[in-house]
Amino acid sequence: MNKIPVGILGATGIVGQRYIKLLSNHPWFEVTELAASEKSAGKKYEEVMKNRWKLEGEIPHKVKNLVLKECKPNLECKIVFSALDASVAGPIEEEFAKEGYVVISNARNHRMDEDVPLLIPEVNPESLQLIEIQKRRRGFKGFIVTHPNCSTTHLCLVLKPLHEKFKIRKVIVTTMQAISGAGYPGIASLDIVDNIIPYIPLEEDKIENETLKILGKMEGGRINYANIAVSATCNRVFVSDGHMESVSVELENKPSIDEFIGCLDEFDPLKNYHLPSHVKPIIILREEDRPQPRLDRNLANGMASIVGKIRRCKVLDYKFLVLGNNTIRGGAGGAILIAELLKYMNII
Ligand code: NAP
Repeated sequence: MNKIPVGILGATGIVGQRYIKLLSNHPWFEVTELAASEKSAGKKYEEVMKNRWKLEGEIPHKVKNLVLKECKPNLECKIVFSALDASVAGPIEEEFAKEGYVVISNARNHRMDEDVPLLIPEVNPESLQLIEIQKRRRGFKGFIVTHPNCSTTHLCLVLKPLHEKFKIRKVIVTTMQAISGAGYPGIASLDIVDNIIPYIPLEEDKIENETLKILGKMEGGRINYANIAVSATCNRVFVSDGHMESVSVELENKPSIDEFIGCLDEFDPLKNYHLPSHVKPIIILREEDRPQPRLDRNLANGMASIVGKIRRCKVLDYKFLVLGNNTIRGGAGGAILIAELLKYMNII
């Protein structure tokens, strides 16, 4: 099979590096273009990444010698994955979509636009109906699909089956988020070593708002947001990778604890699609001291949400922990799964 050529915008960053690693042996996609800021453009990837490659192992052979380009829509590829800083992502992504590229973005800029899918493939594939509306309305030859915020992704993967079966009324979530979530060089070591920082700019709003769009319903060409009260508190903690979330939920229909666990355990709507990055999306750990970021963040290739400590809550109905890999399922891996779904559905 001829592989589909893809480009990475923001290829030098933390999420960009993750794309390069995850796509290095992908059966459907081949990285043909890398792009970043003006200061990186014109140089070989290997040269720019000296002392900046932060992932295990070496830079994959096939991309080492690719020359970084500017983020302009003259790249030789069909799909671009955008891991751009949010300060620049919005207009760059629009330019690419206008010129006919399929843009799959990890940046926040277009997530809440009413004609842009905010997609988790297992959760709301029907939101892809927005693509045609977006193209028509904006005169784009291509289109933009966005991937949610990293914490929101893992939260919604777990809330989806519960909402479908028992109807969620309220969610209280407190996050403990890893430092890689702030990009590179990210947060200063003097601020985070031996510390917890109870503030991540815009993060609480992103979780509260994106969740309602993702769990909403497509009706008459638009999304009706879910009617759930979501309250989020976000903290940056001294962990390299893996966001932990402590979640309590109130449900309209009251399941037994076995029904609650069974509902999460059965959830695997893409199991017959044979997508290369698919894993069973929820893993339940029964040990009372799990999940833990260092031990569990790479279970199922970093593509699953790891749930543990499921128990009754004396204020709402149930409480539990969710651990999610932020740069894989919460970043590049989640966006690659979107591209795989688009191909499966013959949208690309
Ligand atoms: P990062 O490490 O700071 O990387 C940012 C990237 O943006 C770099 O490649 C940088 O290129 C590029 N860039 C900056 N200014 C630019 C400009 N003017 N023109 C073109 N490119 C420019 O950030 P990150 O953590 O990888 O995050 C990337 C995006 O994904 C952000 O929007 C972030 O919110 C989102 N996200 C991050 C995570 C995570 O866990 N880190 C998870 C989900 C989503 P240069 O090296 O050339 O400056």
